[in-house]
Amino acid sequence: MAVELDFLTTDPEEMELVSRYWAMNEYGEFLMPLKDLVPFKEIKQPAQLTKFVRTLCLAYDMNDICKCGKPHRASGRSGVSKSQRQSHRPCEACLEQQLLEKQAKEAADRAELEAKLAPHVEWMNSRSLAYRDLADDSVLLLQALYASVGPRLWEGRFTHDDCSDLSPYNSGQFASRLYRAGVLGDDPEAAWQGTYYLSEGEVRIRLEYAKLFLPPDVELGSGEEAFSLLIDRDFKNSEALSKLWLDYACDDVIRYLMDQCELHNQFIEPDALVKIQDTIRHGLHTYSVSQLWFIVWKVVRDAAALSRRSYYSQERATATIATKIRKQLEFADQTGELRDTWSRPPAHIVGTLGIVLNELFGIDERSRGESVLYMFAQMGKQQEANSDAHELAVAFMRDTLDLDTPLQALEAFAELIRSGLTTEDALVKAVQRNPEHFTS
Ligand SMILES: [Zn+2]
Repeated sequence: MAVELDFLTTDPEEMELVSRYWAMNEYGEFLMPLKDLVPFKEIKQPAQLTKFVRTLCLAYDMNDICKCGKPHRASGRSGVSKSQRQSHRPCEACLEQQLLEKQAKEAADRAELEAKLAPHVEWMNSRSLAYRDLADDSVLLLQALYASVGPRLWEGRFTHDDCSDLSPYNSGQFASRLYRAGVLGDDPEAAWQGTYYLSEGEVRIRLEYAKLFLPPDVELGSGEEAFSLLIDRDFKNSEALSKLWLDYACDDVIRYLMDQCELHNQFIEPDALVKIQDTIRHGLHTYSVSQLWFIVWKVVRDAAALSRRSYYSQERATATIATKIRKQLEFADQTGELRDTWSRPPAHIVGTLGIVLNELFGIDERSRGESVLYMFAQMGKQQEANSDAHELAVAFMRDTLDLDTPLQALEAFAELIRSGLTTEDALVKAVQRNPEHFTS
């Protein structure tokens, strides 16, 4: 018999029933039809009988062997194998062993992760920043982040989800950018399980789930007063600000693109999206967000029409979007015409970053990229001029003090101003008149 029985009963009548139930010939065929085994006491149905037999004995299928060499339990006649086979499924004892091993490994992994995270936790707890030294684009982003999450920025912790109103489409990229620039810290102790994990022995972080915060200022610590250093910033880094605006404007156009794709049941592959972003970003050097919306509206509608043709697939149709945008930009460059009356759809937010850019520099979706980038470039030049004037003033003061001629120097300077020169021109002349300046 290919089944071994382990009786749970000592009642001879019941033992007899079990033996008859499981009796089989050398070909694995059961000798007693189930219907011939009933009635047994009050049991009249074959299905009830199978259930009852299961309570009377443990049956082991000697044809179905676990890797450890032990046979598997058979719950009824239909579960018994006709021929000998090695089973891939573990027996109960092996399953329990596997579970214990899995739990032990998980506990060891957790302990290793915690041990490796400990120095990071300590470092994050003691971190501070010099708010005054933060880059302009970081400061502008922090202003927008403050508008999004409020004092939680430094008092508590926040995640990408909490600041999803930073930008119209992918706010997370801006929060991640601050984190990678070392401006935001992360708090492993406040994080959900799974935020940190080990890969090849190194701790990795899933930034989108991380609990983030702004570390305190080195001098003023955390709070409104310290944060006012960032609010009162005099922006001057035209290159960093131009780049930030381009990233934001591109995100504003991508949001519109995604909404249009959803409307027309179009799906863009991640690789294709990267190329589209490149093209849109290039277009934004000249045109406004609103003008790019118009182009996007047109090309997505065309792609959707294309995908409905029998010989075109949806993928092939959306793959044409980047090229179509480029074509529209080239056409606009040649003709000098591009509609800019496209307005922001009701559900499409400006985001706090867009609001801050508007408040500080008067930029909105109708601002042409050309003008925005020119404005930032001029701001950079103005800043350089201011810094030159500052250098001149320092040279003038230093020379007059060195030569011990402050009164004469101030009279000469006043004379130059009275003759109608600007402060800067008067300084240039005053310094040039002083022959000592050239030898110092
Ligand atoms: Zn086993």
